[in-house]
Amino acid sequence: MSGINIKAFFKFCRVKVAKQVVETAEKVVKVTVVPDKRYKPVCHKCNRAADKIHSYRERTVRDLNIFDAKTFIRVVYRVVRCNRCGDVVEDTELVHPYMRVTKRLANYILELCRFMSLKEVAGHLGLDWKTVKEIHKRHLLDKFYGEDIGKPRFLAVDEISLKKRHRYLTVVVDWESGRVLWVGEGRRYETLKEFFASLNDEQRQSIEAIAMDMWDPYIKAVRECCPGARIVFDQFHVVQAFSKVIDKVRNEEYRKADEEGKELMKGSKYLLLKNKDNLREEEVPRLRAILEANKAITTVYILKDYLKKLWHYKYPGSARKFLDYWCCLAMQSKIRHVMAFAKTLKRYAYGIINHCKYPLHTSRLEGINNKIKVIKRRAYGFHDIEYFSLVIKNAFAVTN
Ligand SMILES: [Zn+2]
Repeated sequence: MSGINIKAFFKFCRVKVAKQVVETAEKVVKVTVVPDKRYKPVCHKCNRAADKIHSYRERTVRDLNIFDAKTFIRVVYRVVRCNRCGDVVEDTELVHPYMRVTKRLANYILELCRFMSLKEVAGHLGLDWKTVKEIHKRHLLDKFYGEDIGKPRFLAVDEISLKKRHRYLTVVVDWESGRVLWVGEGRRYETLKEFFASLNDEQRQSIEAIAMDMWDPYIKAVRECCPGARIVFDQFHVVQAFSKVIDKVRNEEYRKADEEGKELMKGSKYLLLKNKDNLREEEVPRLRAILEANKAITTVYILKDYLKKLWHYKYPGSARKFLDYWCCLAMQSKIRHVMAFAKTLKRYAYGIINHCKYPLHTSRLEGINNKIKVIKRRAYGFHDIEYFSLVIKNAFAVTN
């Protein structure tokens, strides 16, 4: 037995310590707390004193560790008969009803969740990760419940793939504040429609432009639900689409190449997709060698660089001219994937030209996309889409 009296750590006015045991060998502290009968029990829902006690119950919860000993508290509590709420659990101050940990441990867990993954927090405290997730999720649900998104003028819509499951999420961002306003499962017309349905008329009318991918279901949803908003295809998404073309061409060329050519191209995927300014010094000669050896790859590489220029134009007329010129070069390449892309680009030209009036810059979307990728790496618990959505919202919440 330890000589330390831990009553000082239980200064809650509705419970008192009835028993405390330290099991030194197991490094476990067991405490029993019971209602302090000098005080009337209080309903946990409405916080009013209740006169009648319905029954006594007990359950064991984890508390903060005492030194390196895990602390378990057996809480004896009452179900009271509240005039307003019926038969409900009393508020012990120490524990939230239904939680497996004390309030102070829950707060500590929430603090850790800001910097660590669920798995890390659970490992650190010797808790089940599902318990940690439940606490975090409950906190986030509270935080975002009934949240007012105001009247955003510019939106960005993006999709996130959850690769393992071939599932997608649609993320709607307030362009100006960078705040994630909404996350929904799927990337269908109905998905985005659901977001618009959550807005009132005034909010829908306040939206001037929406940046997004050249993705027909989203386009249809905007046209139908928010006809006043202009659709903008931003550089990030369009160049991303063209990157897939580069990849296809590279694969085809790889298959056609001889041994030497294959060796040269091996692992060059990211080299070709990388932004020119981000190339490391040693990558430059390698890229040059690949481009010198292969005409088709050179062509797509130049076209990619050129394509980005489209978003530099301020006047719709000039942008249109450049777009036509680019498509003309693409057709001359005679590379079928590139030609197909040019046709797509023409079909969606209106959204690219809209960029002149609504220059929703690409860097913000790219930043959001990258941040979500980082969150995704802490994948624990994210098969719960609702929880994952809350974590995303939280990461982009405007703190003030
Ligand atoms: Zn009540």
